[in-house]
Amino acid sequence: MAPEPGAVEIPPTAGLPLRAGDLLPAGPADLETFVARWLGVDALQLECSGTASLVVALTALAGASARKTVVLPAYTCPLVALAVHRCGLRIRLCDLAPGHFDFDRDALAAACGADTLAIVVTHLAGRVADLDTALDCAASCGAAVIEDAAQSLGARRHGRSVGLEGDAGFFSLAAGKGLSIFEGGLLLARDPAMRAALQTGSARLVPADWRWELRRSVELLGYAALYGPRGMRLAYGNPQRAALRAGDPVRAAGDDFSLAIPLHRVGPWRRGVGARAARRLPAFAEAATRRALQRLPRLQSLPGVQVLHDRRPDEQGVWPFFMLVLPDAARRDRVLAQLWGAGLGVGPLFVHTLPDYDYLRAIVPAADVPRARDFAARSLSISNSHWLDDGRFDALTARLAKLLS
Ligand SMILES: *Cc1c(COP(=O)(O)O)cnc(C)c1O
Repeated sequence: MAPEPGAVEIPPTAGLPLRAGDLLPAGPADLETFVARWLGVDALQLECSGTASLVVALTALAGASARKTVVLPAYTCPLVALAVHRCGLRIRLCDLAPGHFDFDRDALAAACGADTLAIVVTHLAGRVADLDTALDCAASCGAAVIEDAAQSLGARRHGRSVGLEGDAGFFSLAAGKGLSIFEGGLLLARDPAMRAALQTGSARLVPADWRWELRRSVELLGYAALYGPRGMRLAYGNPQRAALRAGDPVRAAGDDFSLAIPLHRVGPWRRGVGARAARRLPAFAEAATRRALQRLPRLQSLPGVQVLHDRRPDEQGVWPFFMLVLPDAARRDRVLAQLWGAGLGVGPLFVHTLPDYDYLRAIVPAADVPRARDFAARSLSISNSHWLDDGRFDALTARLAKLLS
């Protein structure tokens, strides 16, 4: 668990590093339109986080419906549950397909009904989720589909960006999720009427709040200064190791979110920082994909390991990190005992399924979700950061091979 002497800290995901020049005042005001053009979508709407984007989308849907229940995958980011709760809606959890983060088809059909407002489909870990199952179930019960693409900016299905087949979708611009303005979100929708509803909803719901914006601006400066193999030891690795030593895996994984969800406008300075950095995103994402595809066979050759990858020719995910599913929980735990906190970009994505976080007990209903629990117990993520260079990657896979044999 202790890092090797002199070792660096590999960030857990392939986040785009900021440059000093990004931080100058008077950056371009076209963050949303630049990213929209890159993705090939008509429009994107900037919000202060992925979670806030989901709150705006759910509020717009709830305003046009008497339905009150939102179906979530039992294994996802706890913020998703907090967003549903913030909107005064009910959470209904759905179990997963075996060994994957996709919904189980039968479980989803059983979870949907006359009160289902929306199904949240999650393009987890850069991968393209099985949307068809959700679209089918939504159509047969009259619910909407929201695509949670927080981790999948740039992923494509049928040659188009994810987020357009459901009624609405969102990307996250949080720290460590690809392009970052420390906290931010991008909302999208295929249908112009839905886009208009998201805009009016946001205008009604989200105030300007200079204190929050000031705080995020300071945090963004800190992030720009520290995001790298040295700074990350201080800002990320050391607190994580302290949490692990204290026996607090939820804190170590950063799953301990505050129940309050800030809603405020993103200011022009952070928008300009994001717009400048976004110019480097297409080439950065391409390099990450090349690196991932080159490394994928080595990971797939590890004994008993499944690596989540694109399953069909018309799916092109992105590669912030690799998601591995190990043969059993004992082996996964053995790997984490050695490598989580070692500064090598290895850790669990989320520690628990949603009903298993103590701090969410009052919000998330208890649920029998054995496949999701199995997925949480057997999976781990490995960074696709460029700071994990070929030498470190080879050393890491050699250690994994030994631990798994
Ligand atoms: C991070 C994340 C969110 C929330 O996005 P923020 O920008 O951090 O609010 C939602 N869903 C998933 C799957 C995430 O990983």
